[in-house]
Amino acid sequence: MNPPIQQTLPPIARKQRLAVFKFASCDGCQLSLLDCEDELLAVAEAVEIAYFLEASSHFEPGPYDVALVEGSITTPHDAERIQEVRRQSRFLVTIGACATSGGIQSLKNWADHQEFLRCVYARPEYISTLNDSTAIADHVTVDFELRGCPINRHQLLEVLKSLISGRRPRTPTHSVCLDCKRRGTVCVEVAQGIPCLGPITQTGCGAICPSYDRGCYGCYGPAAQPNCDSLTSQYLNTGSTHETLIPLLHNFNADSPPFRDAGNRLRQSAVLDSSGGRP
Ligand code: SF4
Ligand code: SF4
Repeated sequence: MNPPIQQTLPPIARKQRLAVFKFASCDGCQLSLLDCEDELLAVAEAVEIAYFLEASSHFEPGPYDVALVEGSITTPHDAERIQEVRRQSRFLVTIGACATSGGIQSLKNWADHQEFLRCVYARPEYISTLNDSTAIADHVTVDFELRGCPINRHQLLEVLKSLISGRRPRTPTHSVCLDCKRRGTVCVEVAQGIPCLGPITQTGCGAICPSYDRGCYGCYGPAAQPNCDSLTSQYLNTGSTHETLIPLLHNFNADSPPFRDAGNRLRQSAVLDSSGGRP
């Protein structure tokens, strides 16, 4: 669930100053802003785009009214830089799975970090990274989280419009399941026995995957109050395996607490199963 908004921006006489920052990420969420082709000119009219290196090499120094932050924290330098971004920003919005829950790169949190460095880099001694990939909210106070991998550009525009006009953003937090019902999609879990994370995943995509006969794999992260253990128990009872379910949960939003903890419990029960119940 999105964290409570601590404040809204009161309307001011000048244009609000917008900054877009990148941390460890693929840039796809920033591209979602550039992908707002029909609305981008209106956005540029309504706010001063003061810092957006993906779009322009020209930038203005802070402070900024609104900061959009993409990416997770994976290096000591980024752990320091996000503190400065926070100091420079009145309202900090994290965008995308990387920023809100560590992203796909947080899979390294379950692996041997040093071994990865040895496998990937010819000279790992030159690489300075943290052992874990973590969400921005693990490091600084975040005013609003916008989920998705990538984010939904309509939701992004809603967040920007609301901040410019001084009201709270209205983005839904119901589960993907409800979207399947609304668009008349036959449930892939019920009809085909495909394990689907739709019941515990937040809306945002419009239930695209089930409409193409595949299960939801949770790219918008946990819905409000998800009962992950109940869902995985049901799937285990109906023939799914730990090998299928663990990567479903430990995926784009692997380090979001509900998915992380439910996946960890599955990992533990898989170990117990393979050892015949001996710890
Ligand atoms: S959330 Fe997904 S699309 Fe956005 S930056 Fe991360 S990997 Fe890219
Ligand atoms: S396909 Fe998945 S998201 Fe859609 S109704 Fe079934 S369980 Fe829910």
